[in-house]
Amino acid sequence: MRTRIYSVFALPVGATAFTIPASAIFARGLGAAASATVSSPSCSATTPSDATSFIDSVNTEYEELHRAFEMQFWGTKMALSAPSYSISELTRTKGEMESFLADEAKLSRTRELLSSLSEGGGHDLDTTKTLKMFERTFGCYIMESDEAKELRSEATEIEGKLESERNNMVLGANMPGGEFEEMSSVGLRSRLRVDSEEEVRKACFDGLNKIGDFVTENGFVELVKKRNKMAKSLGYLDYYDYKVTQAEGFGKEDLFKILDTLEEGSRPIMERARERFAAEKGGPSALEPWNLSYFMAGDITRKMDPYFPFEKSVEQWGRSFAAMSISYRGASMDLDLLDRKRKYSNGFCHWPQPAWIKPDGTWQPAVTHFTSLADPSAIGSGLTGLMTLMHEAGHAAHFANIAQKSPLFAQERAPTSVPYAELQSMFLDSLVGDAAWRAKYALSREGEPIPWELVQEDLEASHPYKVFALRAMLAVPYFEKALYEMPADDLTANSIKELAERTERQIQGGLSQRPLLSVPHLLSDEASCYYHGYVLAEMAVHQTRAFVMKRDEYIVDNPAVGPLLTDAYWKPGNSEPFLSLVEKCTGAPLSGDAWIDVLKQDLDKLLKEEKAAYEKARTEGETKIADEDIDLDMRIRIVDGDEVLADTAEDGSFLKTCAKFEKYVRDRYEEAV
Ligand SMILES: [Zn+2]
Repeated sequence: MRTRIYSVFALPVGATAFTIPASAIFARGLGAAASATVSSPSCSATTPSDATSFIDSVNTEYEELHRAFEMQFWGTKMALSAPSYSISELTRTKGEMESFLADEAKLSRTRELLSSLSEGGGHDLDTTKTLKMFERTFGCYIMESDEAKELRSEATEIEGKLESERNNMVLGANMPGGEFEEMSSVGLRSRLRVDSEEEVRKACFDGLNKIGDFVTENGFVELVKKRNKMAKSLGYLDYYDYKVTQAEGFGKEDLFKILDTLEEGSRPIMERARERFAAEKGGPSALEPWNLSYFMAGDITRKMDPYFPFEKSVEQWGRSFAAMSISYRGASMDLDLLDRKRKYSNGFCHWPQPAWIKPDGTWQPAVTHFTSLADPSAIGSGLTGLMTLMHEAGHAAHFANIAQKSPLFAQERAPTSVPYAELQSMFLDSLVGDAAWRAKYALSREGEPIPWELVQEDLEASHPYKVFALRAMLAVPYFEKALYEMPADDLTANSIKELAERTERQIQGGLSQRPLLSVPHLLSDEASCYYHGYVLAEMAVHQTRAFVMKRDEYIVDNPAVGPLLTDAYWKPGNSEPFLSLVEKCTGAPLSGDAWIDVLKQDLDKLLKEEKAAYEKARTEGETKIADEDIDLDMRIRIVDGDEVLADTAEDGSFLKTCAKFEKYVRDRYEEAV
C-alpha cells in the first residue's frame, strides 16, 4: 500500500505501481463527437507533406519536452545530488509539457489535416493513424465547453480543500486501555492484520471507519454533485460514465455489462468461501471485518522467505523473461531498487525516452527508469521485491516494444489505457505464483529449490479465499456507480454512508475490512471512477493465461510467450483499444469466465496439477546449463541514488552484473541476509 502524491495510475491497495505524473490527465471534452462537427476552412490548402511536417514537429517537440520533464521527475524523486535537478525545474518542465498537450491550436490543426486528407483520398494510412491518435491525445487534455470548465474548476477547489483537510485529519485508534494511539491509515490496516488482541483490531477498524465520517462531512457530498453536474453538461449519463469513456473509449453501460459477468459468476464462490472460512476458523465471528484479514494471514510468508532472497531477484527476473524470449529491443534501463531516506515512497516505472520508429525508418529504443523500495532485511521483502521487479519489468518490456511512428503512441499517460498497461505487468508478475516458476526460480541462497510442501501449504491457505480479493476490488466500482447514480437531492452524508455499507454487504457478503469510504481513490479526480481498470486488467490476465494454457499447455519458460505478447499487445501501443486487443489475442471478447474458472477450481485438483508442473519444472531445471548468459537486448544499470552499483556495459554481461549486485546487497545487509 502506498500513499500517492504524484501519479495518475493510482493503485489498488497492495498492488505494485505503474505510475505516471499527476494532472497530466485533464479532461476530455466531447472528443470524437465534437470532431465531427468541426469544419476545416483551410483544407483545400493542405497537402500530404503538410501533414508529414506537422507530425514531425509534434513528435520532435514532444520528445524533448517529455524527456526534460521525465529527467527532472527521476532526479527529484530519487533525490539525486546534481544541481540541475530541482523542484522549480520539475514544475517548469511539467508545465511546458502539459501546455503542449493542452494546446487547442494543435487539436484544430490535427482535425484540419484529417479532414483534408480524407477528402483528398489516397492518403497514407500511417499518417491518418498518427493524426487520429494526436486527436485523441490532445482531446484528453482539452475541455471544449466553458460551462464544464467552470464546473470542473469548482470541483477541483472542493477536492483540494477536502484532500488537504483529509491529510491533516488525526487518525488512530481508541485502545482498550482508554488511550488514543495515533496511526496512519496504513498503520491501522497493518495492525488490523497482525495484532493478536481482538479488541485492538476492533479499535483499529473503528479508526478506519472514521475516514468515511470525516470525508462525508467535509465536502464529499458537494464534490459528487459538482462532478455529476459537470459530466452531464458534457452530455454524459453521469460522472462515472464520463470518466470511463474518457479513459477507455467505451461507456459505463458497456463496462458494467462486462463486470456483471464477473460479479454474478463469483457470487456463489464468495458465499461458499465465507461458509468455509467460518467453519475453518472457529465460527462466524472469524468473518467480522476486524478478524478476517488477521485469520487469513498465516506464517507461510516467514516459511517461504529463505527461498526468495532479494539479492537474487534481478537474476531470476532476467532468466525467466529470457526463457520466454522477451526482448527489450536495445533499450537501456536504470533500476533503483533499494529503499533509502529521501527517496520517493512509491515504486514506479517511467520512460524518459519512448520507443518509436523514426521517419527515416530507424528504431529509437526506449530509456526506462524504474524504482522499488526493497528492504532486504525485512521478512517477506524478497518475495515482495521480486513481485515488484517482475511487475515493473513487465511494464518496461511492454513499452520497450511499442513500434509505431510516433513517440506519443508509447507515452505512459492518457490516452494509454490503465487496464491495457496493467494487463502486461500483471500477466508477468502472475508467474511468481505458479508452482512451475517456483520450482525453477524460488531458490535459497544455497541453491535449494523451494520444497513442494511449502508450495502446497501456500496454495491450501490462499486458493479457497482468493475470491475475497476479487470481491473487495469489485465493491469499489459498484459503489461508485451507485453513488454517481443517486439523485442530487438524495445525496447526504448519511445516505452515502448507508450506500457504502449496503454495497459491502451485497458485494463482499459482509462489512469490508477496508471500509469503502476509506479507499483514497474515491476522492481525487484522477483516481476516482477508474478502479474497474484493475479489475479489467486482472480479467484479461486470466483470459490470456487460459488462452496460452489451452494452446501450449504451459506458460513458464515458454519461448512463444514473449513473441505472442509482443505482437498481440505490445507493438500497437495506444493505437488500438484495450478490449479489441484482448479479443484479437485470445479469440474471445473480454469476460470474467477465465478468472471464475480459476476461483472455482477444486483445491485437490489444483494441487495435483500444480504438483505435476512443479515436478516437471524441477527435472528441467536440473538439466539446464546454469551459467549460459542471459540476453534481454538491453543495457541495465543498477543504481542506488547517485551511485552506480552495477552496469552491463561495464561488467561485461547480464549475469556478471547480477553477481556484482548480489555481492553489494550481501555486504551492505550482511547481518540480515
Ligand atoms: Zn503496474
